[in-house]
Amino acid sequence: MKSLTTVNDLRALRREWSKQGKVVGFVPTMGNLHDGHLQLVHAAKAKCDEVVVSIFVNPLQFGKNEDLDNYPRTLDADKAKLEAAGVAAVFLPSVAEMYPRGLEQQTFVQVPGISDILCGASRPGHFRGVATIVCKLFNMVAPDIAFFGEKDFQQLQVIRLMAKDLSMNLEIIGVPTEREASGLAMSSRNGYLTDAERELAPQLYKLISEMKASVLAGNNDYAALTEAFVGKINHAGFKTDYLAVKNATDLSDADAETESLVILVAAYLGTTRLIDNLYFSV
Ligand code: AMP
Repeated sequence: MKSLTTVNDLRALRREWSKQGKVVGFVPTMGNLHDGHLQLVHAAKAKCDEVVVSIFVNPLQFGKNEDLDNYPRTLDADKAKLEAAGVAAVFLPSVAEMYPRGLEQQTFVQVPGISDILCGASRPGHFRGVATIVCKLFNMVAPDIAFFGEKDFQQLQVIRLMAKDLSMNLEIIGVPTEREASGLAMSSRNGYLTDAERELAPQLYKLISEMKASVLAGNNDYAALTEAFVGKINHAGFKTDYLAVKNATDLSDADAETESLVILVAAYLGTTRLIDNLYFSV
């Protein structure tokens, strides 16, 4: 596996692959890799001749009081996992390589509307940072197919809209959320949880699964249902940031007529913010 730190080296490798007619897959990450990330790699390996994974903790998508400085960095272990998974190249740019003119001067990509609700409302500027870095990485890697987790359901929608609006010449594939046996969605941020919080954490998935069951049983008063489950989630020991039933196709508000639904939740356990979602049809 090649470890590349500069855009020039990455482009040189990409040119070789283009000459050889290779289909190139791309998996962007912030590192601290777990089995969820590896599912994306496996999906990429299954569809592509060569797979590039980037590891870059993107300062542009973190708010002022967020966990940028403490974000877990486990580069050696990450590289070993990627090598074992058959990744051709890992791209490890510095902040200066990605933002040579500095963060303040950086041109942004902003996907309107969808970037301002749910996680975007709680984390102003987050999706602008995500769209900008993903756009830049797409321009560097020039992948044929890029892979994103459904764990970050709203992020996946933001990326899909960006690619469509900016006529990007690639396919975006969403990969199902990888969970622990308890149901807890795998996340690098799970490492922040204390032992006691880790015991509690799977309740979040259990409660949104209960909510889904209630919808499937015919409950379509989503306002009342959401209010009831915010109470349950808080009672279980979380502090709910948001809980919403949305139209899974565009994240508009769902009503009784909506067939394709997604339940999205963000909740704090102590200081750790966990997100999860479930999508389904009625
Ligand atoms: P991150 O390193 O958190 O930025 O995540 C990199 C990619 O991995 C994103 O596309 C995430 O949606 C995806 N991902 C993170 N956790 C999971 C999971 N539990 N299952 C599937 N994909 C995931």
